[in-house]
Amino acid sequence: MTDPAPTIGSVLSDTAPAPLDVLRRVFGYEAFRGPQQEVVEHVCAGGDALVLMPTGGGKSLCYQVPSIVRPGTGVVVSPLIALMQDQVDALRNLGVRAGFLNSTQNPDERRDTERAYLDGELDLLYLAPERLRVPSTLSLLGRGTIALFAIDEAHCVAQWGHDFRPDYLALSDLHERWPDVPRIALTATATEHTHTEIAQRLNLVDAKHVVASFDRPNIQYRIAPKNEPRKQLLDLLRTEHPGDAGIVYCLSRKSVEQTAEFLVAQGIPALPYHAGLDAAVRAQNQSRFLREEGVVMVATIAFGMGIDKPDVRFVAHLDLPKSVEGYYQETGRAGRDGLPSTAWLAYGLADVVQQRKMIDESEGDRAHKQRLGQHLDAMLALCETVECRRVRLLDYFGQRSEACGNCDTCLTPPESWDGTVPAQKILSTVWRLKNERNQSFGAGHLIDIVTGKRTAKIEQFAHDELTVFGVGTDLSEPEWRAVVRQLLAQGLLAVQGAYQTFALTEASGEVLRGDREVRMRRDPVKATRSRSRSARADAPALPAGAAPVFERLRAWRGATAKEQGVPAYVIFHDAVLREIATRAPSTLGELGTISGIGENKLAKYGQGVLDTLTAE
Ligand code: ADP
Ligand code: ZN
Repeated sequence: MTDPAPTIGSVLSDTAPAPLDVLRRVFGYEAFRGPQQEVVEHVCAGGDALVLMPTGGGKSLCYQVPSIVRPGTGVVVSPLIALMQDQVDALRNLGVRAGFLNSTQNPDERRDTERAYLDGELDLLYLAPERLRVPSTLSLLGRGTIALFAIDEAHCVAQWGHDFRPDYLALSDLHERWPDVPRIALTATATEHTHTEIAQRLNLVDAKHVVASFDRPNIQYRIAPKNEPRKQLLDLLRTEHPGDAGIVYCLSRKSVEQTAEFLVAQGIPALPYHAGLDAAVRAQNQSRFLREEGVVMVATIAFGMGIDKPDVRFVAHLDLPKSVEGYYQETGRAGRDGLPSTAWLAYGLADVVQQRKMIDESEGDRAHKQRLGQHLDAMLALCETVECRRVRLLDYFGQRSEACGNCDTCLTPPESWDGTVPAQKILSTVWRLKNERNQSFGAGHLIDIVTGKRTAKIEQFAHDELTVFGVGTDLSEPEWRAVVRQLLAQGLLAVQGAYQTFALTEASGEVLRGDREVRMRRDPVKATRSRSRSARADAPALPAGAAPVFERLRAWRGATAKEQGVPAYVIFHDAVLREIATRAPSTLGELGTISGIGENKLAKYGQGVLDTLTAE
């Protein structure tokens, strides 16, 4: 920590300040956004709340403002120990008295924080959920004044969610122990099912439920057919995101490492992150991603929760996510600053085979597997849709919307076609192999049979004698792969056994009998690529002359951040620097009117900014 905890007492008087005053003077924002005001007022008045907002929606202010307004300390429960220092530094930079208690501290630091809490000198105190199981922590909290409990990442309490943490279950006790302390739970993950589960498990059924719009209009959603994923990724980075910070998600640790190595070999500053890496390496890579500019993090889903880096310009998935909830959470890490960003996913036949197999082999009872299967089916439906991706995504979260104009299907509408006959060809091949030969095979060999390819394996099994041999020369091999993929996605083929061969399902019979039509998506030949064509939320170009000023400000920010050991965005976001460069204020008073510059930051950095503006 670079400086002693500044006091907000100089900023705000002793009587309870009004929420809007806190917003303006401490955070430097003119108005609350979306449902923030409603939540803040409710919690300030002592009410409980359950808040569902997308990533980047502005959840933190919902508990930070009431923590400052109400007497005592806001206790924030967060699973993200590795990020607490940054969160606290960011608050202190605003002049908010914040601290944390976690296992990374030495006893002296812990004692100082405990003392500050007991003396009523903390506005916010961050804790990991497991701390609240420790009797000494509970007793400590009991001896001070608690303004509120904020339960961040509240979906971690949902047992069937993708981030379940057992320690969260104990949080339901808070209410019994401190019935008069308001509780606010927040999450960015929220199907109706998860929402209900959070409310029940945290005892928040009677709380005020606030659901913001889940739309993230500045993110362009794209799902591309996977053929050479690394090459496709490289193309995306080089043509659309040169020099940008971003996250690349891979399914396995091995592919994380290989992909990171590949990018580095191509001259892109990429770092790996997965649970198998040493804790110190993980911490270091995370810190570099947050502090340096333009770093690409290649990671498993172990990375990302709570990362509030505002200028992540793209999130790429090289493998299919297991659920729409997970996908939306991960892609939501792009563009928190509201500037145009890309969510790109490469998806192919092998993904479906692999995911179906993983579900098949997963531990757990039938109901569990069924649920995993439903999650996957929803994800597959999103991938195979010919409709607007955003409409489908928002619909998944129970929100209606219009075609967005900023996703691949809106920008390059795919056709749908009647794939019944090709479907019958594949399905009857599977049927014949099973019934005439008692055999089953995977995608590659099935396609060789229908396209009439005389491979060694075909000769070996005399599959050229099957009546279906060569019945499908009308489609190319990639087209056949797309057919097989969609049969799997639609549940018309099943994956079985260790060799991942295919079998018919109950629904296949309807297709074979001609009782069911199979609609398919024709993958557009040319991939969508268009930051420029995106209809919405393009960053306005800087006026002539402002660009070099912006660069000077960035350099000043970089140097200042380094000096203070904090990420650059903790000082000012890009959007703030853009605004400064555009308006070129000449006095502290003018500078202070810019959104995102509160009183503390003005006092701390104002002169530095003005000097940078006048320097040549
Ligand atoms: P979440 O926690 O929901 O992902 P954050 O609380 O990090 O989102 O907020 C996202 C971004 O929006 C941050 O950069 C934050 O400073 C900004 N922000 C939040 N509320 C407002 C507001 N009322 N006015 C302007 N900017 C805001
Ligand atoms: Zn769309």
